[in-house]
Amino acid sequence: MAIAKVLVGYHVGVQCPRGSTLGGYSGKVRRTQCRPGGRIVAMSVQKTNKLQQAEKLLHEFRQSSATPLALLHQVANDLVHEMNAGLAVEGGSDQLKMLPTYVQNLPSGKEKGLFYAVDLGGTNFRVLRVLLGGKSGQILSQEFKEVAIPRELMVGTGKDLFDFIAGTLAAFVDTEDESLKLHFGKVRESGFAFSFPVRQTSVKSGIVIHWTKGFKVEDAVGKDIVKQLQDALGRSGHQIVISALVNDTVGTLAGGRYNFEEETMVGCIIGTGTNACYVERADAVQKWEDPLPKSGEMVINMEWGNFRSHLLPRTFADEEVDRESVNPGCQWFEKMISGMYLGEIVRHVLVRLAEEASLFGASVPVKLYERRTLGTPAVSKMHADTSTDLQVVAKVLRQVYGVETTTLEERKIVHKVCDILGERGGRLAAAGLYGILKKIGRTGTAMNGATDRKKTVIAMDGGLFEHHGTYRAYMEETLQELMGSGAAYEVALRLQNDGSGIGAALLAASHSQFS
Ligand code: ADP
Ligand code: MG
Repeated sequence: MAIAKVLVGYHVGVQCPRGSTLGGYSGKVRRTQCRPGGRIVAMSVQKTNKLQQAEKLLHEFRQSSATPLALLHQVANDLVHEMNAGLAVEGGSDQLKMLPTYVQNLPSGKEKGLFYAVDLGGTNFRVLRVLLGGKSGQILSQEFKEVAIPRELMVGTGKDLFDFIAGTLAAFVDTEDESLKLHFGKVRESGFAFSFPVRQTSVKSGIVIHWTKGFKVEDAVGKDIVKQLQDALGRSGHQIVISALVNDTVGTLAGGRYNFEEETMVGCIIGTGTNACYVERADAVQKWEDPLPKSGEMVINMEWGNFRSHLLPRTFADEEVDRESVNPGCQWFEKMISGMYLGEIVRHVLVRLAEEASLFGASVPVKLYERRTLGTPAVSKMHADTSTDLQVVAKVLRQVYGVETTTLEERKIVHKVCDILGERGGRLAAAGLYGILKKIGRTGTAMNGATDRKKTVIAMDGGLFEHHGTYRAYMEETLQELMGSGAAYEVALRLQNDGSGIGAALLAASHSQFS
């Protein structure tokens, strides 16, 4: 009993002298005595006991990762509190930037014609064109070209990078089919999806705050990103106008508005990282100093990955992942729910189980200690394993960690770790979305059991949401649980694929300078 507590310390808020908060949150810390030399004790765990030991550790880990409904409601309230603070004054929340995007015309579905988009997202760079049909959801044709950004341009000058981007777009325009040219005058319009931190100054201008994801184009920082691309397009000799600068979540929201009949109010991405944006009443954005937009609405880019609350059920594994990250102390919410970290968190738990309950035999597989060896796709694969003998789990352990033989009981434990963390991630993501719905008044109980409940759609994108079915199921189920059975609104999560690219083209259309 004592061993489990000492080694994994899964009780909420327990802290060990080694410095890591092993379970629960680090806000209110209850201290307990930790017995030194625990690892040595653990290594002598009898084979017959090791399974029991593992089960016990697992049980306690489950408890410290728990996300009961009441807690999720409180987490959502904390998020709303931060949202209000961030909207009140610039820098009002030290967690949520709550950036006004200047997007005031979301696509209505009536947009028509040929529009281009440039999508610079980090991992991928794509140019695309879509022919919009003028009816909701109608995309008559779409084509794209994906190009790798040469390594030297990622760390070179703004001029070189943007000449490359403009050149790629110009060459793509030249491949336009004759039939498409009918839809055009001389000037083509493009949206620009740019998934790096930007302080927007209008719907088609914004200042680069800093680069991430391996880019380091120093002379572009602090300057208008659209002007740099527009100048390069000028040098290319093509007449292409950038009509909208779009964050990827906003593109996802725009795609939802175009495609779905019900009202899309939120765009959310859960991929490598996570973020969300939503449609806010313009007069609720107190820090907004310009005249209020005619639509009375403003899309707000929350940058919600940096949300944190002392209520978030953080464990020792979260502490480790945070400590090893490039930005310790930041992006707590992101680190608990998104793809870049889920595999790492699972790995840290497996390391503990291997060390302290000899999960994979007498010695810990060496590779298990290597960072980022367990990708989130592998975790979702194991989690999705429904075979009676958990063959997929066995295969992943063999292929990734060279663990040749495992017992079914051991595999069950690995599967449960994936489940605990997938469940936690999905439920926390749902709590975040519920907080947004609460902020915009789309929660509550229906009066007299109203039957014509207004529908709200949350447009979703990102590899984790798209491909991790169990995570997604937890998220959907939890959102409904939070809404409650007599909810005044109906809420649905819908996948809006390729939010950034298509969304940028759609926003170029809804902010067209020519039609
Ligand atoms: P990005 O977020 O980099 O723009 P994506 O939205 O495509 O790109 O998300 C990619 C991320 O999604 C990967 O880093 C990974 O964490 C996660 N992912 C991809 N495939 C899967 C999968 N099969 N199961 C779970 N997560 C996945
Ligand atoms: Mg993306």
